[in-house]
Amino acid sequence: MTNQEIIALTGKYVAATYARFPVALVRGEGCRVWDADGKAYLDFVAGIAVCALGHAHPRLLRAITEQARRLLHVSNLYHIEPQARLAELLCRHSFADRAFFCNSGAEANEAALKLGRKYMKERVSSDRTEVITMQGSFHGRTMATVSATAQEKYHRGFEPLVPGFKYVPFNDLRAVELAVDARTAAVLVEPIQGEGGVRVAADGYLAGLRRLCDERGLLLIFDEVQTGLGRTGTLFAYQQAGVAPDILTLAKALAGGIPIGAMLAREEVMAAFTPGTHAATFGGNPFASAVALETLQTILEEDLPGRAARLGARILERLQGLQARLPLLRAVRGRGLLIGIEVGTDAKAIVSRCLERGLLILTAGDNVLRLVPPLILGEAEADEGLAILEGVLAEAA
Ligand SMILES: *Cc1c(COP(=O)(O)O)cnc(C)c1O
Repeated sequence: MTNQEIIALTGKYVAATYARFPVALVRGEGCRVWDADGKAYLDFVAGIAVCALGHAHPRLLRAITEQARRLLHVSNLYHIEPQARLAELLCRHSFADRAFFCNSGAEANEAALKLGRKYMKERVSSDRTEVITMQGSFHGRTMATVSATAQEKYHRGFEPLVPGFKYVPFNDLRAVELAVDARTAAVLVEPIQGEGGVRVAADGYLAGLRRLCDERGLLLIFDEVQTGLGRTGTLFAYQQAGVAPDILTLAKALAGGIPIGAMLAREEVMAAFTPGTHAATFGGNPFASAVALETLQTILEEDLPGRAARLGARILERLQGLQARLPLLRAVRGRGLLIGIEVGTDAKAIVSRCLERGLLILTAGDNVLRLVPPLILGEAEADEGLAILEGVLAEAA
């Protein structure tokens, strides 16, 4: 099928929930993808920070075919070796003692909210059920996670929201202190707000939240669905803040493009999830777990977090140089290969022009361009993509 044929078929039969760009991508290799008409694109989107190993990575292909031949799915009625090994590896490389597996970021956050509430009600006080979240956050699209998401545009039309959330400004420790009361159970925060505009937690903010949660006996939950698995220059973004959460959520890059989500927690907290209290039919099935295990092993063995840190610093420096010349660029920020460029124009139009010239990037909010390329991005590919982006920005200025 051609681009136009696929676009027409989508327009006729698929729910119109997405404002899609007018191309259909049909093939990928490394950091490049091709559309149905054969045009090539350099991919700085990576399926929205999902394809950390790029496309058609040989190690993933091998893990996928081997596990598909062996066993796809059996349910959590039984023990699953790749799931147990994935949990072990995640725990060995984080603060956590145990992992719960599901299928998406929203589901991982749902699990975190349910665990947090159950733990606090049972171990601390039945009144402590509320969660404080940050303005500009994004935690998912289910009723509870969209209610946790403190952005009105995601709420519109879906009220009444799930009760039990209180919103405060991001990067404002004092606002959290003032919001805590006898009903507060937990604080939920992204170390870097992704969808909300690539807003990085200020120095001392996460450590301040940790201190506050310790003083007031609250749970601290980090949503690392976007920042996790090496993207920001360390395996988890929280490691750069020098403090650990009680609960952490992952999804996007965990299996390099196969759907999976995970919630990690300390032993004492996870103990509130007893048999029968929470479940997901597909959660951590043999296939998704085996692919996630191979993805995580590759990220660790090839030091992709280190690579993201080095390449990201280079890209950030080059963009900051551009900012000095082009006032259209209001701000350049990020960590590792999660980079935001705030522009004084419609970001979507810039993204469209980059697409025409063979570069895929995306937005984060209305006026921020977001670059989240595969962690395997080469230096020459980074330069090639930046040259296209610089050309488009220079024209728009
Ligand atoms: C993408 C994202 C989610 C939602 O993940 P889904 O897999 O789309 O449900 C939640 N939190 C953050 C920080 C995200 O970036």
